[in-house]
Amino acid sequence: MAWDRREFLHVTSLALAGGALGRVPLWAQDASPRFEDLRRNVGAFHMRGGTIGWLVSDDALIVVDSQFPDTAEACLNGLKMRSSRMIDAVVNTHHHGDHTGGNKVFRPAARQIVAHTNVPGLQQRAANQRGNEADQEYPDTTFDETWRMDAGDEVVSAKHYGPGHTGGDIAVTFERANVVHMGDLMFNRRDPFVDRPGGARIRGWMELLPQVIDDHDSDTLYIYGHAGEGFDVKGGAEDLLLQRDYFAAVVEHVSRGLEAGRSQEEIAAIDRLPGMTEHASTAQSLGHVLNVAHEELSAGQ
Ligand SMILES: [Zn+2]
Repeated sequence: MAWDRREFLHVTSLALAGGALGRVPLWAQDASPRFEDLRRNVGAFHMRGGTIGWLVSDDALIVVDSQFPDTAEACLNGLKMRSSRMIDAVVNTHHHGDHTGGNKVFRPAARQIVAHTNVPGLQQRAANQRGNEADQEYPDTTFDETWRMDAGDEVVSAKHYGPGHTGGDIAVTFERANVVHMGDLMFNRRDPFVDRPGGARIRGWMELLPQVIDDHDSDTLYIYGHAGEGFDVKGGAEDLLLQRDYFAAVVEHVSRGLEAGRSQEEIAAIDRLPGMTEHASTAQSLGHVLNVAHEELSAGQ
């Protein structure tokens, strides 16, 4: 996700006007820090912004994503109670501020910050546009396709599947625990933010989800960047397939609209996708996805 507070308030006021406040993302509701154990020394940290993943063992300390400065501090304090190690790696799943905003807090405690090759540039450009360059801490270890490191009795690996939510997303796998952090490649049952200026491609995103499933197995537990209200930020392959189906429905709806000669405004003017009964959609958040799909399809992408 990449909405800053001003955009968030704008969305909220739009939603209020539409009478749909109950479905608006409200990070502030999840403001108390919570550590959740998942499997084999791997867990999740919940507070505000994209879910943080962690590995804490006698021989390794790994953090996936860093939320915001204040929540990163709460996370770091909690991790320090569990381990006296330096952090072997902070891994950023992509460049958005609710996943990299805490990098600066983690930096003095971390040996490296790892991300896809495109992340530093995208992060810098976004910071430039927002005028918050001074708050940034950039990844210093980058890779194009895959990255892997031994972490005590665990192995952590990461893979870039091509453009999806941005142009620099990775899925991060704790191989022995069989836990995969999807970053914002997963918005569980909620309209996703699609960062087209940041290199996103809806059709690429749709196609990469089954590839991630193919690279893992039926017992794999996935961690998600965000979820709709009342839904979990973790789950199984069926959630990834539902998100794939959601994008298929988006592409289908927009393609049919284009074929029928409807305007972009007409195409985007629905508040629920046919068949997607579980998704928390609003006309505003679904309209965003449909508009991006319209731009992609009109451009022949
Ligand atoms: Zn994001």
